[in-house]
Amino acid sequence: SLSIGIVGLPNVGKSTLFNALTKNDVLAANYPFATVEPNVGVVGVPDPRLARLAEMYDSAKVLPATVRFVDIAGLVRGASQGQGLGNQFLANIRETDAICQVVRAFHDPDVTHVEGDIGPARDIETINTELILADLQTLERAVPRLQKEAKFVRDAKDKERVLVAEAAAAAQELLNGGTTLYAGAAAAGIELALLRELSLLTTKPFLYVFNLDSGELADDGVKKRLSELVAPAEAIFLDAKIEAELAELDDDEALELLTEMGQAEPGLTLLARAGFATLGLQTYLTAGPKEARAWTIPVGATAPEAAGVIHTDFQRGFIKAEIVSYDDLTAAGSMQEARAAGKVRMEGKDYVMRDGDVVEFRFNV
Ligand code: GDP
Repeated sequence: SLSIGIVGLPNVGKSTLFNALTKNDVLAANYPFATVEPNVGVVGVPDPRLARLAEMYDSAKVLPATVRFVDIAGLVRGASQGQGLGNQFLANIRETDAICQVVRAFHDPDVTHVEGDIGPARDIETINTELILADLQTLERAVPRLQKEAKFVRDAKDKERVLVAEAAAAAQELLNGGTTLYAGAAAAGIELALLRELSLLTTKPFLYVFNLDSGELADDGVKKRLSELVAPAEAIFLDAKIEAELAELDDDEALELLTEMGQAEPGLTLLARAGFATLGLQTYLTAGPKEARAWTIPVGATAPEAAGVIHTDFQRGFIKAEIVSYDDLTAAGSMQEARAAGKVRMEGKDYVMRDGDVVEFRFNV
C-alpha cells in the first residue's frame, strides 16, 4: 500500500500525531496475523461508499484502502553531518513513497522549540537542507562513476548511461542551489526516471502537516499564509493534541468534537487523502457477502493491472472485467437492476479504470 514517511524537528508534535495514527490502526482490527514494526501505523482511508455497498451485498466486513505511515526518527539539524542519530534516517526514508513534514505552528511556552522560537518557514528549510545534503553526498559518490561509464558507451543500447550521467550532474547543480528535486526537476528539465537507480530522497513527493493551535484551525488567513509557504505541495492543518483525543473517542463523540472545532473530518483522514492525491492514486471497489473493499491503484491503471492488485494470478489469467460505476449501481439499487438497465459493462484488457468502478473480474487460473 501507499507509504508515507513522517519527518519533523523535535517537539513539533510528531509522536503525538503518530500515536493518534496508530490508535486508528486498521491492521490490528482486520488482519490479525499481520505484524508491523513499532514505527509503522497503517490507517484506513474512510470511504462512505463501502458502507453502502456492504449494506447492498450484506457483506460481513468492510475493508478500506490503507495508507502506511512510517515514523522517521532522527532527522534534526546537522543529521546529514552525523548529528543526532546521524544518517540512520536515510534507510527508513528510502522505503517510503512520499515524505510528510510535520511543522510546528502551535504556541506553547511549556514546549521548547529547538530553534528557540516558532518559525515554520525556517523549519521547513532546515529539514529540506538535511535531505538535500544527503542527496548531494549520494551524488558526490555516484557522479564520477556515472561519468566514467558514459565515456565508454559504444552502442545505442548504452546511450541511456549518458543521459543518466547528465541528469545526475544537473541534479547536483539544482541541489547545490538549495532546491529539492521534487520542487525543481521539471523546471530544470531533469527527468526523474533517469535518477531512479540512485534512490535520491528529494525526488519523493513532499506534503506538509501544520500542527496548529486549535483556535487557529478555523482561521483562513493563517492557513492561506502557511499553504503559500509550501505550494504547490499539499498542506494539511490539524491540532495533534486534538487528534490524540479523537483517537480515544468512539465515533459519535469524535464527530461531536470535530463539529465543535468546525472540522468536517479528522486531520488524519485529510492526511491520508492528501497522500492519495499527491501520489496519483485512486481506488476501485469490490463487494460480496464476504467483504466490501477498496483497492488502491495508480490513476491510469488498466483492468488487468487493477486485477493484479488483488492477486498476480488475476492479472496473468485476466479475461475481462464486469464493471458498473458506484453511482449507477446505487441509483439502480442492486446489481440485477443495474444489469437490466444496461449499466453493467464488460471491459477488456485495455480498459482504463475509473475511480469508484465496482468490479468483478473474470479470469483463468
Ligand atoms: P515530537 O518530538 O515532534 O515527537 O513531539 P511530541 O509529539 O513529543 O510533542 C512535544 C510536546 O508538545 C508534547 O508535550 C506534546 O504534548 C506537545 N504538543 C504536541 N502537539 C501539540 C499541539 O498541537 N499543541 C500544544 N499546545 N502542544 C502540543
